[in-house]
Amino acid sequence: MRAEFPPFRLGKVLATSFTATLTERRCDPVEHIPVPHRLLDWLAVSGLAVDSVTPAQLALARELRESIHAAATAAALHEDLPEPAVQVINGCSAQGRASAVLTADGRRRWQLSPGSRLEDALGVIAADAIEIVSGERDGTLALCASPTCQAAFFDTSQSRTRRWCEMNTCGNRMKKARFNANRSRTPRP
Ligand SMILES: [Zn+2]
Repeated sequence: MRAEFPPFRLGKVLATSFTATLTERRCDPVEHIPVPHRLLDWLAVSGLAVDSVTPAQLALARELRESIHAAATAAALHEDLPEPAVQVINGCSAQGRASAVLTADGRRRWQLSPGSRLEDALGVIAADAIEIVSGERDGTLALCASPTCQAAFFDTSQSRTRRWCEMNTCGNRMKKARFNANRSRTPRP
């Protein structure tokens, strides 16, 4: 049954992986978490497993997602952050009860406790969004060059010249489109 759902686009940055649960935002949006159990799946593969998600909690998760998208897009465009989005992000961050844990190899990881609620997982995602939008983490927010996508992504490349949210999807599609355009301009014998 689960094969009916589009696969997740998982990146290295938690907050933008979360906003990528809605793709093709500028064309025909594809919802990757249309039902509560699909959000449970996403949280599990993202290291934030919780026991249950109600339809109301799914709505809250999507509200946070769209708020992160709005704030990250504004930051990428060097515009003022939308106040309602900031409020939702801060509210979710304040609701969460996750612990920062130092791993053996010296990295920071967020840990939920057994019995954690969805709000705890959203708190971690909101905190991650705050780090990248505020500029606390090394990298730059940019918008995907694909006209049907324009997703905000976090560029950590040394030159800060990454153009696509993801090479495997948007990047390849744009390259293929350019290739076909070039070929159709070549006069046929
Ligand atoms: Zn994209």
